[in-house]
Amino acid sequence: MPSYTIPKTQTAAVVPSSGAAIELRKDHPVTQQKELAPGECLIKLACTGVCHTDLHAALGDWPVPAKTPLVGGHEGVGEIVAIGDNTSHSPVKVGDRVGIKWLADSCLNCEQCRKGREQNCLDAKLSGFTVDGTFQQYVVSFVNHVTPIPEGFDSNAAASILCAGVTVYRAIKYSQTSPGDWIVLPGAGGGLGHLAVQYAKVAGLRVIAVDTGADKKKLCLELGADKWIDFNETKDLVEDIKAITDGLGAHSALVTAASSSGYKQAIEYLRGGGTLMAVGLPGKANLEASIFFTVFKSISILGSYVGNRQDAVEALAIAARGEVSCKYLVKELDALSSVYEGMTNGQVAGRIVLEMPK
Ligand SMILES: [Zn+2]
Ligand SMILES: [Zn+2]
Repeated sequence: MPSYTIPKTQTAAVVPSSGAAIELRKDHPVTQQKELAPGECLIKLACTGVCHTDLHAALGDWPVPAKTPLVGGHEGVGEIVAIGDNTSHSPVKVGDRVGIKWLADSCLNCEQCRKGREQNCLDAKLSGFTVDGTFQQYVVSFVNHVTPIPEGFDSNAAASILCAGVTVYRAIKYSQTSPGDWIVLPGAGGGLGHLAVQYAKVAGLRVIAVDTGADKKKLCLELGADKWIDFNETKDLVEDIKAITDGLGAHSALVTAASSSGYKQAIEYLRGGGTLMAVGLPGKANLEASIFFTVFKSISILGSYVGNRQDAVEALAIAARGEVSCKYLVKELDALSSVYEGMTNGQVAGRIVLEMPK
């Protein structure tokens, strides 16, 4: 077993109170091995992705509050450097490379956990929200919930799969679609969207990518999208989708949008028996749908919230085989504030991965 020297302090990006500016602290304490509870592990992070959820957590604009002070982040990859004493049946060991996802821990024994909906466990702990997350060099996590990273799979490439990838992978998995079915992906050229295009192709689906601009069109088609619709150029999105799908409409739509119009349209362009998968987590928007047509067309509206341990393992395995790859830009941890600014102004294309100070 490798042995590690664990420092007493580290660099961490701390949100001191809800909505306050991030402080990059060089003297943030590192939890020591003796301080770990049974079942906890300490991970030395190599990198972390940045997700829109982190921005919501920092701003405190969700109906559920984050802890403060808060270290955000939930797409981390690193090496386990310590495990709490008296941890029994640990599925991971010191030296293993693992990922931290949004769902840091759950009880594993309640009805939700037993049914595989660990993310709905009432005792769930959330990385970078109810427990400190991955915007720091050393993070405490939980042996039962960290995700082993497949050997040879690059840590930076794995980071965004842990949230963005898992989220769209699970939504597609539960979309009640079969190979050959049509799925509509609004925002297909974005961070979640471009991963959704690829996971949908792995599932054998035919993809209608909806987004705007020449760059996003090129990206979506390169990633395997079968059809492209530019929402700024189309005269009638619903009619375009129906025309592509023999007049019947699409089998499914995976909607990440913060506005209600994306949902309303989906009810119109889905065929009978179609499924609307809602995966975005805007703080305030309401889902607006025609009750008449939801019933009349036997539409299923399903919320899909991140993923459980198995979803994470599956999503990573597919990416590690090279069937899905995330487009990301690498920056340093101290760039976090400027990344948030870019996200607020809608200037971030693809995903951002932050490397830890060496
Ligand atoms: Zn996320
Ligand atoms: Zn539980």
